[in-house]
Amino acid sequence: MRKNIVAGNWKMNKTLPQAIELINEIKNNKPNNNAEIILATPFPFLAKAVELVAGSDIKIAAQNMHQAEGGAFTGEVSATMLTSIGVNTVILGHSERRAYFHENDALLANKVDTALAHDMTVIFCFGEELKDRQNDNHFNVVEYQLRDGLFHISKENWKNIVLAYEPVWAIGTGETASPEQAQEMHLFVRNLVDKVYGSEIAENVSILYGGSVKPDNAKEIFSKPDVDGGLIGGAALNANDFFGIISGI
Ligand code: PGA
Repeated sequence: MRKNIVAGNWKMNKTLPQAIELINEIKNNKPNNNAEIILATPFPFLAKAVELVAGSDIKIAAQNMHQAEGGAFTGEVSATMLTSIGVNTVILGHSERRAYFHENDALLANKVDTALAHDMTVIFCFGEELKDRQNDNHFNVVEYQLRDGLFHISKENWKNIVLAYEPVWAIGTGETASPEQAQEMHLFVRNLVDKVYGSEIAENVSILYGGSVKPDNAKEIFSKPDVDGGLIGGAALNANDFFGIISGI
């Protein structure tokens, strides 16, 4: 049975004191259901976050990492650094990384390989832009993002993969894909994984939805059979909103 996951992507938000407060609040008061909770904090807070969640089943993730093992890459963070502080999960391919930092499929394929070589779990994000959907090209775009960025990995590595469908037009905009649109794409993706890797992998991979998930729409989105949780941006910055979303699982 695949896992239900609610992951908070904090992006470039919070100070250290605010991060500590929010993590403690989540650790102490989160709703208890079968959702696995992942918190992707900014880099400077990761080590502290790992310390704070010790003894709970909350996982801490990085929002990005560099593909190289190390060396002269000013300002970058490696997989070795992350795992050395107990961070074993990384978000790759977020649309903001693709758009503002020019991360393309080939680069992402490299980053995926590095993360997997370090036995990290990858939350691999993909999703179409508004123009793709308007041109009825969204299935194609998603298929190519997956084929070019992810589908080179071996069958064995799928145990370390979580997929996150995030239509760009729904991120931070207040626009949410309807539960039907989310389900339609998630089913398409699961069928694609099935075609390339077989039904066991397809049935076991968790596919999260991301894009303006809020407490009042989470339950309906999560109720769809191929939606296994969410990747949450804005609403993950406030404990009550985040709890409301977790309760929707
Ligand atoms: P949002 O962001 O929930 O603020 O739309 C989602 C994401 O970018 O992961």
